[in-house]
Amino acid sequence: MQKKLITSPARKRIALVAHDNMKAELTQWAQKHKEQLIKHDLMATGTTGNLLHKHLDVPIQALISGPLGGDQQLGGLIAEGKIDVLIFFWDPFEPMPHDPDIKALLRVAAVWNIPIACSVSSANFLVSSPLFNEPYERLIPDYDAYLKERL
Ligand code: PGA
Repeated sequence: MQKKLITSPARKRIALVAHDNMKAELTQWAQKHKEQLIKHDLMATGTTGNLLHKHLDVPIQALISGPLGGDQQLGGLIAEGKIDVLIFFWDPFEPMPHDPDIKALLRVAAVWNIPIACSVSSANFLVSSPLFNEPYERLIPDYDAYLKERL
């Protein structure tokens, strides 16, 4: 697959998702890092977004709830180049009815090479990186070249 470079802006579009057993952990983490987070554009799946808005009082775009298609919605936005960072505290102990959507979201995030944090410590690494607040050049699939190869 041919790749090309694009620039993620300094002001990142950050998607946040937490499964029910992980929501307290994500809320606590986000409260701790509120000052860093408010420098960016935040979006989240439905329940996570409303919860973060309630506890942090920060502007956050809430999409559809995960089990109703919110993870797929986020995957679509990643493929369209509209999300720069994914913070996804998925539950390692509970199977979910929407496991296929979760797998798809993680796959698409890897395809488009966006930073993904699935735990408090990986989220800490992300938020403390200088790249969190700087433009970042990342390699993504070159879709024009991909089409040319296939047609
Ligand atoms: P929720 O969705 O934020 O609406 O709970 C998250 C998920 O279950 O993927």
